[in-house]
Amino acid sequence: MKTEKIPYKIYLSENEMPKAWYNLRADMKQKPAPLLNPGTLKPMKAEELAGVFCEELIAQELDNDTAFFEIPEEIRNFYKMYRPSPLVRAYCLEEKLGTPAKIYYKFEGNNTSGSHKLNSAIAQAYYAKKQGLKGVTTETGAGQWGTALSMACSYLDLDCKVYMVKCSYEQKPFRREVMRTYGASVTPSPSMETEVGRKILAEHPGTTGSLGCAISEAVEKAVSSDGYRYVLGSVLNQVLLHQSVIGLETKAALDKYQIKPDIIIGCAGGGSNLGGLIAPFMGEKLRGEADYRIIAVEPASCPSFTRGVYAYDFCDTGMVCPLAKMYTLGSGFIPSANHAGGLRYHGMSSTLSELYHQGLMEATSVKQTEVFEAAEYFARIEGILPAPESSHAIRAAIDEANRCKETGEEKTIVFGLTGTGYFDMVAYEKFHDGEMNDYIPTDEELAAYRDQLPKVQ
Ligand SMILES: *Cc1c(COP(=O)(O)O)cnc(C)c1O
Repeated sequence: MKTEKIPYKIYLSENEMPKAWYNLRADMKQKPAPLLNPGTLKPMKAEELAGVFCEELIAQELDNDTAFFEIPEEIRNFYKMYRPSPLVRAYCLEEKLGTPAKIYYKFEGNNTSGSHKLNSAIAQAYYAKKQGLKGVTTETGAGQWGTALSMACSYLDLDCKVYMVKCSYEQKPFRREVMRTYGASVTPSPSMETEVGRKILAEHPGTTGSLGCAISEAVEKAVSSDGYRYVLGSVLNQVLLHQSVIGLETKAALDKYQIKPDIIIGCAGGGSNLGGLIAPFMGEKLRGEADYRIIAVEPASCPSFTRGVYAYDFCDTGMVCPLAKMYTLGSGFIPSANHAGGLRYHGMSSTLSELYHQGLMEATSVKQTEVFEAAEYFARIEGILPAPESSHAIRAAIDEANRCKETGEEKTIVFGLTGTGYFDMVAYEKFHDGEMNDYIPTDEELAAYRDQLPKVQ
């Protein structure tokens, strides 16, 4: 073993935890494009969003200027149950790879929901409760967001109604049961419960669903039920804001030992963990105080950044949501049934999209079997059984560390380990049995979805 000058795990104390979330948009000169009303094509006003979202969350969503939002004490107290999360120096992985690179990962899997999603779930549930609502509706893909929201809602005594993408509902029955344990009701999507669900089923009988479909259903349910609002676990600015707690803690832990990362890596589904992890670092970059290489990693089967277009699009398949300008594959895109459910979204956070567009961050896509090779390698060396989503970041981190081995560069790499994979054993089984495929959409397929983008100038 190398001598451990830097602890294996860097934990902050409770007092060192952030007291405010950081809003990256405040430091962007060119702000992310606003949400548009799909009817008028004018920027959405707070009043127009009020039927769908909670009031304070709308204020956070639309605020491009306030740099810091104080974290309410109740939320900080909840965070204390599972935060600060550890920043781990991957000594064993470095040694095994024989790389001169120094590798760190911020591990967000240390709570029952198994991912970073709880950071925003508790915030959103808190503001819903504060507004006096009865409950919230949402969608879930892989199940992590639904689980996190169920936990947050049960803690605050709010009703929680979850539309779960059908292929995950069938693949991950235990996820569903965790949600029900926390008192949520779970419906496979598309369902016959909503108008939009019935329409999608009529057009695509036998579809295994997508996040875009489930969002449409959850929004419809919220706007047609008294005392309910819709909440979303990724993509939105407010979610990136709450997830900044990941990056702020990471930065505080690194600063404590005077470590400056060269490369920061995260998987990207809707962009919330990556947006949260990079927030304070990108802030420095935007203010010209420091420079970092920032890499988003996405599945080759759902390549929004690397093969999508930067355009206004619907956030959902049923076209009931506002339009967002983002890197998108088209809201009709239904990716092949890969196992990283949390990364199967057609679009991307508009904040990250704008940063990517400005060349302030990079993106790469990786194939599913390569991701599982990295996942298994990591599990055997570092002990943690990673979620398939998180393993996209592991793959890229290993690739970067191997590059350092070739060049002899002692780079410091930080990546986000967003969650654990205990509920993904069917996927691991497929990988072990050699039954996993690497389906990558063709240019023709992608072009067909692109043709259906709404026409906005
Ligand atoms: C949902 C999820 C992701 C992807 O979502 P982002 O909003 O892009 O962060 C990544 N990892 C895990 C474990 C997830 O549950």
